[in-house]
Amino acid sequence: MRTFRYERGTDPGQAMALVAGEPDAAYLGGGTNLVDLMKLGVARPRLLVDVTRLPLDSVEPLPDGGLRIGATVRNSELAAHPAVRRDYPVLARALLAGASGQLRNMATVGGNLLQRTRCYYFQDVSRACNKREPGAGCSALDGQNRDLAILGWSPQCVATHPSDMAVALTALDAVVEVLEPAGAREIPLTEFHRLPGERPDQETTMAPGGLVTAVRIPALPYARRSTYRKARDRASFAFAAGSVAAAIDLDGPLVREVRLGYGAVAHRPWRARLAEEALRGRPATEENFRLAVDEELALARPLAHNAFKIPLIRNLTVRTLVELTEGSAAGTSTGRDPGRRRDGDGDDGTPERGR
Ligand SMILES: Cc1cc2nc3c(=O)[nH]c(=O)nc-3n(C[C@H](O)[C@H](O)[C@H](O)COP(=O)(O)OP(=O)(O)OC[C@H]3O[C@@H](n4cnc5c(N)ncnc54)[C@H](O)[C@@H]3O)c2cc1C
Ligand code: SF4
Repeated sequence: MRTFRYERGTDPGQAMALVAGEPDAAYLGGGTNLVDLMKLGVARPRLLVDVTRLPLDSVEPLPDGGLRIGATVRNSELAAHPAVRRDYPVLARALLAGASGQLRNMATVGGNLLQRTRCYYFQDVSRACNKREPGAGCSALDGQNRDLAILGWSPQCVATHPSDMAVALTALDAVVEVLEPAGAREIPLTEFHRLPGERPDQETTMAPGGLVTAVRIPALPYARRSTYRKARDRASFAFAAGSVAAAIDLDGPLVREVRLGYGAVAHRPWRARLAEEALRGRPATEENFRLAVDEELALARPLAHNAFKIPLIRNLTVRTLVELTEGSAAGTSTGRDPGRRRDGDGDDGTPERGR
């Protein structure tokens, strides 16, 4: 690890000015991603500006019924927040499906959104990687790409975004509040992360040196009927092989509204707008769920080792929507709380403890 200076931010403007004044500076949230990358030599900042003491650590209700979540709120606090658990179970479950309890106690909302890809070649400085070094080439395109993208990739980069939280926020139409050298700005989460295109090193639409100050979730009453389902290689902590965030609103047997986000399939959390469109106004049946997700997945271009993600996402989506609509006018009556895991599912590995 090369030597670096450490400063503690006292207010958002001062923290941003410190970073803007130093080309090799980075914000330090919980450090659970950045410090690992510094040890590997992937990140080499000369200045770290610690943002964890900034006054951005509260979750506030908004007049319209939504929530404003400060950028330094810890992932475990957010998952346990009563309003999140009650009104946005998809977000609570996505957070609890991410990492381990110890990591969630350190990880912040801003750091989680801006965590870097887990592509092995990105983390190995001896391998060519356009994201680390533009123009170097992409080792994953013809290498070990089992965990990488099936949607929206370019020949420059096939990496995926690793955050579970961001997939739920994508489905909830969250907005990211940022402070940039030119002033404050709001960016819809669906536009915050970039697809790789020709510049996979540019990961967000935020200006260089930008500080995430908060994330806003609008009111979405039907999100009380929402959940997150994650498939991973082992039941303890692991990144997703594929994941689905879903919220659905029914009008009798018909789908009035639906929100779907997919994780571990693209360079950014993927909002499945084609599937949503295909479902609106249609009967909430398993067959229609399958047809809708197939419309979205028609866009998929699997790599040599990850075609399994197509049936994985299809099955996760169908199963999630069936679970959410069980007990409604459209489904069979089971009396289950749609936001809760079914005993024995085991495919999302979310521990019941601590909810
Ligand atoms: C073993 C392991 C397993 C994991 N499993 C999962 C998982 O299953 N799902 C999942 O989603 N995540 C997982 N994670 C990742 C973990 O969630 C992230 O490391 C964490 O969320 C990052 O948050 P942080 O506050 O520690 O960020 P940091 O490491 O401090 O920062 C990450 C990046 O964000 C930038 N940054 C931080 N705060 C701000 C801000 N306010 N504004 C602008 N930039 C900022 C930093 O400069 C840095 O580039 C895992 C991590 C580990 C180590
Ligand atoms: S997929 Fe992206 S991050 Fe991975 S090696 Fe290729 S360019 Fe680098």
